[in-house]
Amino acid sequence: MLIPQVAPPFPLAWGFSTKLDTPAKLPPVRLSQVHGCGIVAVEDAVQEGDGIWTIQPSVRIGVRVADCVPILMAGLVNETPWIAALHAGWRGAAAGIFRKGIELYLSQGGDLASLIWAFGPAIQKCHFEVGLEVIEVARQDPAWHEDLMALGLRGKPHLDLHGLLRAQALHLGLNPANEGSVALCTVCQENLLWSYRRGDRTERQWGWIEIESKDEMG
Ligand SMILES: [Zn+2]
Repeated sequence: MLIPQVAPPFPLAWGFSTKLDTPAKLPPVRLSQVHGCGIVAVEDAVQEGDGIWTIQPSVRIGVRVADCVPILMAGLVNETPWIAALHAGWRGAAAGIFRKGIELYLSQGGDLASLIWAFGPAIQKCHFEVGLEVIEVARQDPAWHEDLMALGLRGKPHLDLHGLLRAQALHLGLNPANEGSVALCTVCQENLLWSYRRGDRTERQWGWIEIESKDEMG
């Protein structure tokens, strides 16, 4: 398990699973992910969406990815712990799922200063070759800057997904010191991580998060 590198504002369990983790620690599947921007409140039933949030302690929520970015968020809403997990490929990132997650948190009374977040392992700029049409979509984002793209060895553009999401966060006023991302590349780390682009068609890793109850804390 890879753990985000930032101190949480309340007792929190969270992490990014790898090939080495046992399924026992992972959340139940509650999302049918569709590369959209829907963010739903946790329910036991499976819901269509690419983000899930809760204020319930001891409920482990998460998203499944294999190149897309798992985003974990934690903050205080009226002194109450609030968490979310989002799934962001280039479509979701460009369509603003992280912005929507932050706006959802703020709309519920969330405190911007206490909000921490972490992007998990994903296909990084080293391997994320895309078509120019993807860059054109990403360029529409108000936080876009040209350093988020670089030309690869084959002369095709590579996109920095973590960088695009980070630019959006800073554009919305999040504190850069509150980021605890794990910037491993799923394609590079064959022994550790699943990668759809490298050929893993069914296996996924999780980004998951859980508010620890006071009972568990003793
Ligand atoms: Zn790579």
